[in-house]
Amino acid sequence: MKYISTRGQEAKKSFSEVLLMGLSSDGGLMMPESYPHIDSNSLNHFRSLSYPELAFAIMQQYISDIPADDLKSIINNTYTKENFQTEEITPVRKLSNGLYILGLSNGPTLAFKDIAMQFLGNAFEYVLDRQNTVLNILGATSGDTGSAAEYAIKGKNNVNVFMLSPHGKMSDFQRAQMYSLLDENIHNIAIEGLFDDCQDIVKNIQNDLDFKQKYHIGTVNSINWGRILAQIVYYFKAYFEVTNNNQEYVSFCVPSGNFGDICAGHIAKSMGLPIEKLIVATNENNVLEEFFTTGIYQPRKPDQVYITSSPSMDIAKASNLERFIFDLIGRDGKKLNQSWQQLETSGQIDLSHLLDDIKNKFGFYAGSSTHQNRLDTIRETYKSEQDLVDPHTADGIYVAKKFPNTEHLICLETALPIKFEATIKEALGNDFLVSRPDVWNKVEEKPQKIEILANDSNEVKKFIQSQVQY
Ligand SMILES: *Cc1c(COP(=O)(O)O)cnc(C)c1O
Repeated sequence: MKYISTRGQEAKKSFSEVLLMGLSSDGGLMMPESYPHIDSNSLNHFRSLSYPELAFAIMQQYISDIPADDLKSIINNTYTKENFQTEEITPVRKLSNGLYILGLSNGPTLAFKDIAMQFLGNAFEYVLDRQNTVLNILGATSGDTGSAAEYAIKGKNNVNVFMLSPHGKMSDFQRAQMYSLLDENIHNIAIEGLFDDCQDIVKNIQNDLDFKQKYHIGTVNSINWGRILAQIVYYFKAYFEVTNNNQEYVSFCVPSGNFGDICAGHIAKSMGLPIEKLIVATNENNVLEEFFTTGIYQPRKPDQVYITSSPSMDIAKASNLERFIFDLIGRDGKKLNQSWQQLETSGQIDLSHLLDDIKNKFGFYAGSSTHQNRLDTIRETYKSEQDLVDPHTADGIYVAKKFPNTEHLICLETALPIKFEATIKEALGNDFLVSRPDVWNKVEEKPQKIEILANDSNEVKKFIQSQVQY
């Protein structure tokens, strides 16, 4: 399997090369040249596999430059009960109203990002060792991505993390989760600014090609193909969990920000998994809802982004949408390039003439929730089901209920409620006790390691230089 860029002007690459890349040099995202088709016989065979076996069966079709036995051991070391609490890795539960919840948040940092990031950490270590090279991951986080990356990479050889976060802007729990890591290869940098400032610094440094090359700067953001690939697996796993045979169809409702998670669902459907609908759930930042209901993609300006109670979905533009649009317009890099030029000049892309394909061929639908909708959903789900969900998952459940006649509708649980305690208390009362897994008891009281820097990319560069000494 080789990889191509959505903008069509990058040489073909292998999986390992793509894994260590950020954006393609033509500005596009890397995509597999084609999607392997999973026929009904293979589906029957997949149905009986354990999570790691299934992950291997799917991922090996996209990875032809890592020997099968090595890939198997990377996967077996990643998807363990020790890491994810259960043998199933991503257990499904059913609510009395008929909706299913796919539990993706039982990994080390209690958000779905662990599923891909844990794989990425092990894959990085393997590939870097084979290529005898090093990687310095530079990222910006407003919460979940940073901690998932750090817990995946801590203690690994040849790879360091430099993670920027806005000083004083995350929840106490999120802060403690990240800053209490004392491993030598983990560097938390609190920037005296906002999340967007952190992201600007990362872009600034990425654009300094000399620095980037000399210091082996890499990324773990959700445009990394390795993350999308690892996420395809749980769409299959959930399908087998709720159906008895391959004639049955399922639908998924996915809380969405950067379109990474649901992009994996789109690929699973393209591979032949019997998926009827893929429902995109957004919060007040509804760029994606707008696109999937009108065919017009109009990213917002950073100062038009609302700060909401589902902060991991507070985005101005959905980077991974480019992957879907590539497929939507027939995988034509030239056309995609034109669309993105149009986006730069006019601020939007109009694909409303393809709305019929978006719905009927690709199965995409969308909806959004408000803060009040999420609070009500958390309260109702708790009162009627004794099931406590986080505000992102609540967004998904709220939107899913707008599609009442959909059979086997599976909502993705993207984080555990403890990560967003303040919102849970707002929904259920200040006295409500949000339980947390034992390992997180008193995490706020642990010693923290943190470097506080000015909002200035030169300061960050100097800090990286002082830590890696090449
Ligand atoms: C990252 C994140 C999302 C959004 O996922 P995308 O892949 O960006 O669409 C939703 N919920 C939670 C809790 C997250 O951490």
